[in-house]
Amino acid sequence: MDGLTREILAPLDIICRAGDSGVCAYVIEEGCVEVLRGEGADQRLVAVLTEGAMFGEVALLDRQPRTATIRALVHTKLVRIERDHVEQLLLRADPVIQHLLRLLLARFRNSFGAGGAPGQGPAQGVGQVGDAAYGEQQDRDLQASAVRTLSLARDLSHALDADQLELFYQPIITFSDRSLSGFEALLRWHHPKLGLISPMEFIPLAEKTGLIHRVGQWVLERATSDWLALRGLCPVGRACQMSINLSAPELGGDHIVDAITSSLSGRGIPAHELRVELTETIVIRSIDEVSRALGQLRATGVGIALDDFGTGYAGLDYLQTLPFSCIKIDKSFVQQINTSERSLHIVKTALELARGLGMTTVAEGIEDQVIADQLKAMGCTYAQGYHFGRPMPKSAVAAWLAHFNSGPGAV
Ligand code: C2E
Ligand code: CA
Ligand code: CA
Repeated sequence: MDGLTREILAPLDIICRAGDSGVCAYVIEEGCVEVLRGEGADQRLVAVLTEGAMFGEVALLDRQPRTATIRALVHTKLVRIERDHVEQLLLRADPVIQHLLRLLLARFRNSFGAGGAPGQGPAQGVGQVGDAAYGEQQDRDLQASAVRTLSLARDLSHALDADQLELFYQPIITFSDRSLSGFEALLRWHHPKLGLISPMEFIPLAEKTGLIHRVGQWVLERATSDWLALRGLCPVGRACQMSINLSAPELGGDHIVDAITSSLSGRGIPAHELRVELTETIVIRSIDEVSRALGQLRATGVGIALDDFGTGYAGLDYLQTLPFSCIKIDKSFVQQINTSERSLHIVKTALELARGLGMTTVAEGIEDQVIADQLKAMGCTYAQGYHFGRPMPKSAVAAWLAHFNSGPGAV
């Protein structure tokens, strides 16, 4: 068996009636059913559905009463699809998709004129009838979120040309001597009406719309160009690096390797002065796709950091097969090393693992001296966090460094 519930019906058995609440949809596994609209003398046949057809999905999705009566014509076997299951899937869907689905359902209901079920007025909009969980407030939230997503997706395509994107730079510090070892470039969008928009909101959007390739190219060009000035602030004779973040779609195909090598060589920057950061989730989800590009990149001398380490809930095999030079321990663990045994354990394990595999380590999200001292004592290589420096515009970096260098000595 496949775990799905089945219903067996004899000829002329009623499966559901117009006006019933729809807690499930059905797929016909064997047999056939008729779809009837209207009541009593007005009842009329509108369709006959056979093997493989689905029905009952509209009431299941919009929680309004069934619009038709369905009756088995012969011996019929149905598979039930429960509302809970469908709702779990929908909850994970994009808010735009959820909103569009609701609009479509509302229009579908309205296209029956007097509304679906006998005795009901015209459907006035999805979610207005139904239980509290699908109340008006949720509809409004979903609509607002969908409208924001749609308008941000539209505006983002102009953001590059309108010069609304900016890179902020967050310093990365060498623990052993508290010296500057480089920066992580973090993207900012100055939206003309909505103000500063977080990359957590617009990067996923850029990934979905395909704009990430142009955005990524812009980040690469701007970061390498700014590095020509910023590298001069790092200690002379030390290996310093600019780090940029890469998204999953940027790693498909060979394009990224060419883009990076030509951007570096065009500016005369040695490859080892660039580090790319990839989140653990990207790596795990598309290991075959990324391994080729990463192998080629590493061969050029570019550093590769595994970002958000510990958040991917996966085995660790890929750490051996992919050419990482650095592990960045996620701030959610770093910030809890004193309050959660589990976080402390994950941080210790990451540091040991990196040491064993010859990789450096960055602890991100350090917000106080106590945690900085602990991580230094545990042997972490680099520190990043508000305690040392927040992400800032390029123009603010020199003043930050002067202040940092005049601050209390050892970490
Ligand atoms: P991430 O790569 O994990 O970057 C670190 C995030 O932690 C940054 O958030 C940074 O501002 C924040 N952070 C650093 N130190 C501290 C601290 O001490 N405390 C706290 N609470 N937060 C700290 P941000 O700048 O909002 O970036 C969010 C995410 O957006 C980044 O996470 C990265 O995944 C993505 N992102 C940013 N810029 C780019 C980019 O140019 N390209 C791509 N593909 N993704 C980017
Ligand atoms: Ca990062
Ligand atoms: Ca991170």
